[in-house]
Amino acid sequence: MTKLTMLRPRVATADTRRVKPPPKQVDAELGTRDWKAMRLRVKERARGMCEAEGCTRPGFYADHIVERRDGGAVFDMANLQWVCPSHHQRKTVRERMKRAHSQSR
Ligand SMILES: [Zn+2]
Repeated sequence: MTKLTMLRPRVATADTRRVKPPPKQVDAELGTRDWKAMRLRVKERARGMCEAEGCTRPGFYADHIVERRDGGAVFDMANLQWVCPSHHQRKTVRERMKRAHSQSR
């Protein structure tokens, strides 16, 4: 018999569990024609390039500077920036950590 060895895997899984984001929800409003037009405007304003400081990559996402769930306006050019996948991911993780922090207090 192998006793308890199955209960305690030697490789810790805690890290991925903590950092792994839930799949990003696709909000209904982001599937609309209005949003697609908005996204295109953000892209054109940025001339297609990532707007993160110092970044020279082409952008891919119209990102909400203040996220929707934090009360950010969805259809507001002032609350949108055009970012590359890398910066989008970085910001999303950062915002999520910030939110997790404020909720635990
Ligand atoms: Zn970037």
